[in-house]
Amino acid sequence: MPGSALTTRTDIADTDLIRSRAYVGGSWTDAAGGDTFPVTDPATGHSIGDVAAFSAEESAAAVDVAQEAFADWSAKLPQERSAILRRWFELMIAHREDLARIMVAEQGKPLSEARGEIDYAASFVEYYAEEAKRPNIEGVTSHLPDAEVELWLEPMGVVALITPWNFPSAMLTRKAAAALAAGCTVVAHPSAETPYSALALAELGERAGFPPGVFNIVTGSAPVVVPPWTDDARVRALSFTGSTEIGRLLYRNSADTVKKLVMELGGHAPLIVFADADLDEAVSEAIKAKFATTGQDCLGANRIFVERSVYDAFCARFTEATKALTLGPGMDDCDLGPLMNEAAVAKQEAHVADALEHGATLACGGRRDGQGPLFYQATVLTDVPPEALIFHEETFGPVAAIAPFDTEEEAIARANATEYGLVAYLHSLDPRRIYRVARALQFGMVAVNRTKVTGAPIPFGGTKQSGLGREGARRGMEEFMEIKYVCRDWA
Ligand code: NAP
Repeated sequence: MPGSALTTRTDIADTDLIRSRAYVGGSWTDAAGGDTFPVTDPATGHSIGDVAAFSAEESAAAVDVAQEAFADWSAKLPQERSAILRRWFELMIAHREDLARIMVAEQGKPLSEARGEIDYAASFVEYYAEEAKRPNIEGVTSHLPDAEVELWLEPMGVVALITPWNFPSAMLTRKAAAALAAGCTVVAHPSAETPYSALALAELGERAGFPPGVFNIVTGSAPVVVPPWTDDARVRALSFTGSTEIGRLLYRNSADTVKKLVMELGGHAPLIVFADADLDEAVSEAIKAKFATTGQDCLGANRIFVERSVYDAFCARFTEATKALTLGPGMDDCDLGPLMNEAAVAKQEAHVADALEHGATLACGGRRDGQGPLFYQATVLTDVPPEALIFHEETFGPVAAIAPFDTEEEAIARANATEYGLVAYLHSLDPRRIYRVARALQFGMVAVNRTKVTGAPIPFGGTKQSGLGREGARRGMEEFMEIKYVCRDWA
């Protein structure tokens, strides 16, 4: 029921932000057959509400609506689109606390992290409200004696957005604000684990003044509602954030209609600590890089490599800092919260068991926590051998894996020995080494002596099988625009 309370601890002031119907064509819509799916509070494992589960036909009809809205939206002055985006940003900031609490209820992350995510999500809307007004035409020095040459940047059309549960607000606005600023219309599918955050943003989008059909949220099972979009030639671009496995599937399914693809996929980040680093700083940054979002982060440091001469000292301090982390329901605002689902907890158990079988040492944690079915202790594994599963798969949880290295070449080779290439972390105080190693790392982003590198003005994205294209920055908007080359005879 729209406007009803979620059946868990939230204290939402504006209960109209709690929406459980899909939002299509400016209307809040139940599935015709009345189908719904349950959403669970990861802190308790209990259902907190039921959300409309659209059919394939209903999802296909959302593209009709978005296509119809495209003509007017793309013809608006960029300044008009900018003004609506700006209002959307202001509403997000005004409702920051409610949005954060809705996120905690369905995603489980600590309240401070949820507030931080709302700020991050809103920053993309603010950024693209500005970027919408920047020139959409470029002059080119003509290569012809009697012609002028121009490039017009034009919105592609309807774009499909598919977002994951770990950042349910920021992953949506990073895509949607860019697409809407460019003049595209949107059909979006939020993860069925966390639909309420996206629906609350749609409610604020409606209040901000998006015309009907411009921004549509289709809820339901992804394998049901997404194929009508990949099959539809009118959907000109698909932007996906999620696992590399599902990314590959969508890549294949988009081939027949030759869609433009933007893909933000898996991470598996290395974090390298050289003996010449500031060890205290390296430890505290490594704690953030590993345990933010309870480790459920595509930027999470999954492979920590430490130079042998400081290895024991690093492991001792890192373990001590890990033991000090608090774990509890997101509303209690501890350092870590519950994991998203049982599969995530089972993955922690499997990675820990496998590492121990291969000879790793358990320095702390290594078990489920009794606070609820989805709590797992912050865990440190040391002396993890190269063949352990955790060095080959994303763990996506609060298990840190540490191993020593002897040479710079070895550290680079081990860091690059993965199909992923999203982010790498590097700790050293030697400027020449920093330059050398950053150049050699095959990753889309390199963080030097720090963890936080993201933000609206930077082009976020990975190399290799971590994805295609970039989000954020001017480039993120141009992913949704076509270049039209116009050659004009002036004789
Ligand atoms: P996921 O299983 O790939 O799901 C991502 C999205 O795809 C969800 O909306 C999901 O819907 C949908 N989906 C699932 N099956 C689908 C199908 N058959 N067809 C179409 N869509 C489908 O990933 P996740 O477990 O939610 O997220 C974790 C992964 O995302 C990790 O690998 C992480 O590294 C990656 N990630 C990457 C970035 C980045 O920017 N590079 C950011 C965050 C996360 P349902 O949830 O409803 O099934």
